[in-house]
Amino acid sequence: MLIVKKFGGTSVGDSDRIRNVARRCAEEYQKGNDVVVVLSAMGKTTDLLLDQAREINPKASKRELDMLMTTGEQTSVALMAMALHAMNIPAISLNAFQVSMQTTSNYGNARLKKIDTERILHELHDRKIVLVTGFQGINKFGDYTTLGRGGSDTTAVALAAVLHADACEIYTDVDGVYTADPRIVKNARKLEEITYDEMLDLATCGAGVLHNRSVEMAKKYGVTLVVRSSLNDSEGTQVKEEVSVERMLISGVALDKKAARISVMGLKDEPGIAFKLFNTLAKNNINVDIILQSIGRDNTKDISFTVDEDEADDAIALLENNKSRITLQSVTCKKDVAKVSIVGAGMMSNPGVAAKMFEALYNVGVNINMISTSEIRITVLVDQKDGEKAMNAIHEAFGLAE
Ligand code: ASP
Ligand code: MG
Repeated sequence: MLIVKKFGGTSVGDSDRIRNVARRCAEEYQKGNDVVVVLSAMGKTTDLLLDQAREINPKASKRELDMLMTTGEQTSVALMAMALHAMNIPAISLNAFQVSMQTTSNYGNARLKKIDTERILHELHDRKIVLVTGFQGINKFGDYTTLGRGGSDTTAVALAAVLHADACEIYTDVDGVYTADPRIVKNARKLEEITYDEMLDLATCGAGVLHNRSVEMAKKYGVTLVVRSSLNDSEGTQVKEEVSVERMLISGVALDKKAARISVMGLKDEPGIAFKLFNTLAKNNINVDIILQSIGRDNTKDISFTVDEDEADDAIALLENNKSRITLQSVTCKKDVAKVSIVGAGMMSNPGVAAKMFEALYNVGVNINMISTSEIRITVLVDQKDGEKAMNAIHEAFGLAE
């Protein structure tokens, strides 16, 4: 069997934990399996590197930021190789150049395009554990790129797909995927299984457990994922196409505190304005989420939308610079907002799910700013201070607790 295992930052946070992971990988190897291990940077390394960069130059170029961040993962794989060698287990670390993991050219948020398997297969054939840097790639200019924060999950799934692995295990510091973040909702329950679509929506809506692109890729290539803890032997959660357990109305509640609401006022009420507005943002790689347009009056209209908090300043600057072309009069931004989402394939065939969610919010006095829905998801924008309260109330109302 060929197994891809991915360990997140906390799982390799210090020397003891690195040895713990090495032991787990060695056990797998000693069963006779081929083992490919993808690692994240140790602990908070990536954050610290970014802080350091900001201190030196708040406008550091994205190329140099990627150059810097990729050192984190490189440290992890090298140390892991050393830990395995100390246990007399053959192992080799490889970075994105050595494997050759090609991505699109955009620094900071690149997408994987092509992974060469030759070197990895060669090392596996030599009976080595192969340790691969997560999160990084190389572009057509021969530079390092990164896949966006949390991107090591995507590296692991991509490797599992191209290597036709028999299993892809994502190890983290929680026991699996929960009905809500157990740090916020005390009686959240671990799910045995969840579908790709549900997991994708949860991941996109702020459940930090998996990088959303990794789920997209797992669905595309039919890679069954297992999310489990690196600190115990608990079973974890399977992420796959179909689940066998009887489904609940909804599978989980997610909270995203890193949202910002931008309101654009005084737009001309005529065709093509929304296109100009959102095209300007899209061309600059700014992702827009919930969109709300007011009813026009006096030939003008207002449009509000949400973006990632980190992208809010860029978005505002961009809109200010294109004021007359987009025909806007003013722009405002509110950063202390949060998105609360419920996700579940069960809501497709059940009316009243939205009403139940809104009732739960009403009961705890939480006001809704904006609403958006899809077939299997309902998202509301609330004040940031209300986010956790809202999450708990909704979790309770849908009976998701243990
Ligand atoms: N080290 C990177 C991050 O912190 C990638 C990852 O952990 O998946 O975002
Ligand atoms: Mg992660």
